[in-house]
Amino acid sequence: MPAQHDYYEILGVPRDADQKAVKKAFRQLALKYHPDRNKSPDAEEKFREIAEAYGVLSDPKKRADYDARGHAGVADFTEEDLFGGIDFEDLFGGLGFDFGRRPGAGIFDPVFRRRPGPRRGPNLEVGLTIPLDRVRTGGEEVVRVHRPANCTACDGTGAKAGTKPRACPECDSSGQKVQTQRKGTVTVRQIATCTACSGRGKMIDTPCPVCAGRGQTEQEETLKVTVPVGVEEGMALRVPGHGLSGEEGGAPGDLYAVVRTRAHPNLERHGADLWHTALVEVADAALGTKLKVPTLDGSAEVAVPPGVQPDTVLRLKGKGLPEFGGRRAGDLFVRLQVRLPERLSSKEQELYQQLRSSARERARP
Ligand SMILES: [Zn+2]
Ligand SMILES: [Zn+2]
Repeated sequence: MPAQHDYYEILGVPRDADQKAVKKAFRQLALKYHPDRNKSPDAEEKFREIAEAYGVLSDPKKRADYDARGHAGVADFTEEDLFGGIDFEDLFGGLGFDFGRRPGAGIFDPVFRRRPGPRRGPNLEVGLTIPLDRVRTGGEEVVRVHRPANCTACDGTGAKAGTKPRACPECDSSGQKVQTQRKGTVTVRQIATCTACSGRGKMIDTPCPVCAGRGQTEQEETLKVTVPVGVEEGMALRVPGHGLSGEEGGAPGDLYAVVRTRAHPNLERHGADLWHTALVEVADAALGTKLKVPTLDGSAEVAVPPGVQPDTVLRLKGKGLPEFGGRRAGDLFVRLQVRLPERLSSKEQELYQQLRSSARERARP
């Protein structure tokens, strides 16, 4: 199953960890996993992950973006953005620890050299609507992803199986046409898309019937993602390598599943807190009562004190959702609305009249 890693989990620090604690955790892990020291095959990947987590959490602005939107908040950063601001000399100086620095090379070049060649595919974002209870328990959810993929019938060429696209004779396979115009003494060169091949540089005589010559078909993939306990609204869960495919054999991008919480019939989510509106009969409001309110895992009993006023909010501590990455839980707030009778039986009418005279009696000085 593809994994998404939370930066705080990677560094093993709580979400409210201060800069000192973040730095200390990174330093310890980096020393353990630097590929110069650790020869296990996944050390480089692990080290990259640690450095990425530190790059985000050590920068207040990036950390705030991450806290607010999860991985989507920092998805657009390049490695330079992430690691550029880290002062490795300050972190590891004086340890006699060799980061493989060589003249003219950045301190992380041996590890983070950008490999030349095919470009990595773009990231893909999909929505993931989860029931409120999944926020409480965490666990697996299924994400359905539609994305273009190379047509298997024609191997992505767009030409019917057994045939091949041929080079466009109009543009010499470049997909572009250069037009030269002379305006007085000035020669104007204009580059335009080749109209014969629509810029593709090739001609397809017999289009593939499966993809109608496009070379790509839309494919549906179902993926399982793990929703962390207390996941926040709008948080993006990263599934590495399940974005769009790269060009010319480049690695695929990542998939981001952006979490939305489905509306619940009785409970409204506000961060880690839940809100419920309860109706109370007039007599119950006046005399006090016990009320059964729905919670995510059943129900709870709440005592309504006598003489309670409309719009009073009662708080059930810790009966909300677990906080993401934290140890606390939110609260359940119960907003009371008092229901006034619209129609009275004759018996009730009598009683209300008695109530009225008694109230007037009391009001008399
Ligand atoms: Zn095809
Ligand atoms: Zn052409």
